[in-house]
Amino acid sequence: MSTTPGNRLAWIDEELASLEAAGLRRRLAVRSGPQAVRIVLGRQKLLNFGSNDYLSLAADPRLVDAATDAAGHEGWGSGASPLVTGCGESHRQLQEELARFEGTEAALLCCSGFAANAGTIAALAGPGDVVFSDRKNHASLLDGCRLSRADVRVYPHGDWRRLDRLLAKAGGYRRRLIVTDGLFSMDGDLAPLRELADAAERHDAMLLVDEAHATGVFGRRGRGVAEHLGVEDHIDVRIGTLSKALGSVGGFVVGSRALIEWLVQRARPYVFSTAPPAATAAAAVAALEIVRDEPRRREGLLGRADRLRDQLRGQGWDVGTSASQIIPIIVGQPDRAMELSARLRQRALFVPAIRPPTVPDGEACLRISLTAGHTDEMIGKLLVALADI
Ligand SMILES: *Cc1c(COP(=O)(O)O)cnc(C)c1O
Repeated sequence: MSTTPGNRLAWIDEELASLEAAGLRRRLAVRSGPQAVRIVLGRQKLLNFGSNDYLSLAADPRLVDAATDAAGHEGWGSGASPLVTGCGESHRQLQEELARFEGTEAALLCCSGFAANAGTIAALAGPGDVVFSDRKNHASLLDGCRLSRADVRVYPHGDWRRLDRLLAKAGGYRRRLIVTDGLFSMDGDLAPLRELADAAERHDAMLLVDEAHATGVFGRRGRGVAEHLGVEDHIDVRIGTLSKALGSVGGFVVGSRALIEWLVQRARPYVFSTAPPAATAAAAVAALEIVRDEPRRREGLLGRADRLRDQLRGQGWDVGTSASQIIPIIVGQPDRAMELSARLRQRALFVPAIRPPTVPDGEACLRISLTAGHTDEMIGKLLVALADI
C-alpha cells in the first residue's frame, strides 16, 4: 500500500529534466500592473517588445471604461453558454459590430481565437474530407485539423504551387478545406492569399484564413491581410481574435449568414463553453471604434516596423521573411536565443526568445513585436543594445 500518486507521475520529472537539459524548459513570468510598452516583469522594469498588444489598447482607459460600464449593467460572469442564457446585449452588439467592421453578413463570438479555430475547422470538415494546412500554421489550426478527423495534408510554408498539386490529387474527397494564417505569428510574413484563393477556386476548395495577428493592423480599414491584398471576397471563412491588437479577449468568425448559423449548431467550443463576460465584449466594441477612428495607429506602426527591419538588416541580423510588426531575429540554436534575450534584459529590454516547438528546430529566434506605443526613441534604445551585443 505504499504506491502514492506521485510515483506514477515520476516520468514527468524525467521529462522536465530533459527539457531543462535541452534548454527548452519554459518558465512562467508574472507581470505586475498593466500590459503596455513599459512593464514590470518579475519586479524588473522593462521596455516591452514581447506583447501582441499591437495597437497598445490593452490598458487604454476607453476599453477599461467600457468594460466597467458593462459590468455595472450586466454583472461579471455570463453564467451559461450563449445558446442557453449566456448571450447578453453586449455580446449581441459586438457580433453586429464585428460583422459591420469586417463587411460580412454575420459574425460569431467565441471564448478565444484558439476555440474559434479549433471549433470552426472541426465543424467544416470531417471523416471523408481533406484539410490542407500550411506547415507554419498556428497550433490552434493544427489542433482543429486533428479534431476534425479529416485527412490532413501539410504543405510547405507559403508554397501554393505544391498546394495546387496536392489539391489536384484530392478529387476523391467529399469536401476540401484550405487553412492558413494570414500573418504568420513567428516569421511575421504574409500568406500568399491571392494565389491560395486561385487554387481554392480551381479545385473547388473552401478557404479559411486566420487573421489573429493582422486584425486591426493590416488593410485600409484594419480588417487584416485579406483586405490588404484585396481578396476578401474570395475567402469563405475569416477568423480573428479580440485578444491581440484589439486589447480584449475572445475569438471571432466572420462570413456568410449560413456559415455562422452552421457554427452555432456545430462548433463545439461555442456550444459547450460559457460565454465570455459581457465586459470583455464591451471592451472589444470600444476597441473596434478606435480602430475605425484612429487609422494612424496602424499606419504609424507598420511604417516604424519597415524602418526597424531595414536597420536590423543593416546591423547584419537575419530577420527572415518578415513583412510586418512581428520581426524575428533568427539565431538558430535555443541557447543562443536565450543568451541574447538575457543580455537585452540586463539592459531593461524585454525581447522574448522563441524556441522549439513554437518554431521548427534550428529556427530559434528573438521575436520583436512592435506596437503603436513604441516611440522612435524606444526603438533606438533597442537598436543600440543589439549593435552592442
Ligand atoms: C494567438 C493566436 C490564436 C489564438 O488566439 P487567442 O484569442 O489568443 O486564443 C490563433 N491563431 C493565431 C495565428 C494566433 O497567433
